[in-house]
Amino acid sequence: MKISIDDIKNAKDQSLKINFDNKIKDLSTEGNIVAELVFKAYGKYINASGKIVANVKLVCDRCLKDFIKKIEVDVDETYMLGHLIPSEDAHSGQEIELKDGDFVTEITGTDELDVDDLIYQSVTLNIPNPCVCDINCVGDPEMEKYMKKEISDPRLEVFKNLKIKEEGK
Ligand SMILES: [Zn+2]
Repeated sequence: MKISIDDIKNAKDQSLKINFDNKIKDLSTEGNIVAELVFKAYGKYINASGKIVANVKLVCDRCLKDFIKKIEVDVDETYMLGHLIPSEDAHSGQEIELKDGDFVTEITGTDELDVDDLIYQSVTLNIPNPCVCDINCVGDPEMEKYMKKEISDPRLEVFKNLKIKEEGK
């Protein structure tokens, strides 16, 4: 889903509300991602704020099982419009106050905002690390045995055999 920057500027109070209820390519979710976002224009800046709720399909880092995690994100993202926007647009009478640490995305060469991309970035940045199915998940013991076996270096097997030979002589 994309929205036109002109639509935001032409909206009442230069503020456009979007109700998103859909899936997003590259983001595996159970059911739709639901988001309520407000895009507001301040001269050459556009601020996106609101909330995203997604039931994301993840794989546990410990037991490698699939699980679903509800991820809720409070969005507060600022876009700076690049040189393609005529300078008279800068006189909107409103100024946005940028705080330290605010993440500003510069937009050039397009007159649209990619809502899917905003949602994708917001959700994936909020996937916890480590990503575990349960805070108490200790992993699958069978799986760990298997993993240990897998990572054993075949070259070490040679040393094992040498040792046995030495002991046997
Ligand atoms: Zn787990």
